Amino acid sequence: MRTVNAQSLQRSPYLGTNGFPLQSAAVYGPIHSRRYGYSLGINPLPVSYKFCDFDCVYCQYGWTPRQPGEQQTREKIRPADELLSEIDHSFQIALSNKTPVDVITIAGNGEPTLHPQFSRLVDGLLDLRDRYFPKVRLGILSDSSQCYRLEIRQALAKLDDRSMKLDAGDWETVQKVNRPLANFDWTRTLRSLEALKDITLQTLFVQGSCDNTSPRQIESWIEAVRLVRPKSVQVYTVDRPPADAGIRPVSVSQLRTIAEQCEAATHIPTEWFE
Ligand code: SF4
Repeated sequence: MRTVNAQSLQRSPYLGTNGFPLQSAAVYGPIHSRRYGYSLGINPLPVSYKFCDFDCVYCQYGWTPRQPGEQQTREKIRPADELLSEIDHSFQIALSNKTPVDVITIAGNGEPTLHPQFSRLVDGLLDLRDRYFPKVRLGILSDSSQCYRLEIRQALAKLDDRSMKLDAGDWETVQKVNRPLANFDWTRTLRSLEALKDITLQTLFVQGSCDNTSPRQIESWIEAVRLVRPKSVQVYTVDRPPADAGIRPVSVSQLRTIAEQCEAATHIPTEWFE
């Protein structure tokens, strides 16, 4: 298979604290998965460190730098127009290489809605998608932390697909699994997710040094799913090196049981992925 360009093939010299490489360009992949097919990734964030307002125990990019001094470089977030010009170039190459693209997914080295010009970026990406891959859906993977902001909800609404994180139904578990940084309000996040239309809730279940799978935790998570009323739910577990080496994946049979429980209680289609 031919990838987007030479840069996206390069293994990043920058690694997360778990040794897993960061994404090295504004466009990466495509990455193949059973869930999405061939997904071309968009990284609007720095390439030399993870930029996120969560610090999930299972993060494939390792622990989140909490102070500027903990970042590997002083790289700044790039303006939307500069990113769009690089993305335009990469899309041209992907098209001429006949790179297989089933979906385009905004994600990257952290939380994409933290980009200060996120709305501008979404508008530009929609134009580029229409020009180069008009039949391909444009979606996002988000940690849900910024959807309380009206301008972020409006930008998210323009995308074809919104996959929003909800790893627990109680604040105590969210603190343990997602370890949010400053300015995170759990109740506000739940209400904001409820206000978003046609979202897919994504939940990652873990065991080991941190666990969100007890009967009480599953019960409160199902209550939260019922409140948010997404169009679908996806549950899955770790398949890459986690930030916390004590984290273990949940068994396939338990994932399936959780998905069946959720669907039976909420009547919302719930898929599970290994
Ligand atoms: S929200 Fe995503 S990028 Fe951020 S810490 Fe969690 S898993 Fe990592």
